[in-house]
Amino acid sequence: MAFPESFRASPNRAEQPTHERRGVVIHHTVMPYEQTIAYMLDPVSRVSYHAVIAKNGERCTLVPDEQIAWHAGVSSFQGRPHCNAFLLGLAFEGDTYRAPLTAAQIDSALEWIARRWVQYGWSPDSIIDHRQVAPGRKDDLNPVEWLRFQAAMNGWAAALP
Ligand SMILES: [Zn+2]
Repeated sequence: MAFPESFRASPNRAEQPTHERRGVVIHHTVMPYEQTIAYMLDPVSRVSYHAVIAKNGERCTLVPDEQIAWHAGVSSFQGRPHCNAFLLGLAFEGDTYRAPLTAAQIDSALEWIARRWVQYGWSPDSIIDHRQVAPGRKDDLNPVEWLRFQAAMNGWAAALP
């Protein structure tokens, strides 16, 4: 499968230092897909994800992997602060407290991750959600939906050759 993908260059990025690409922070947008993209393209927002995934699985890439997107804010992963420097930002359209992720969203995210998995040396432990890197400050994803996504990812990773 290959979900449609578009490219829109967000100004909300840092070209230096080069992004370390150690893993991914998963978000949900709350806002609808097109509105999210417009927000990321607005230099006033100073917010961006590397990519956002619509409910139908379509993706929009906003910042190249090599550059830093501004998605995690004050955050820490495995004891290291400033996740934006070393974790890519991938967001699902919607609010996972109001509606579950769609099957297309999960499949599209796994496709996006699969394209990077070997090159960047990722494992299931490399993928985390915003709630867990900014505890008490951010609530995405809904823990139930995080566990659902994580189970799908673990199943996919276990089937890799
Ligand atoms: Zn978030």
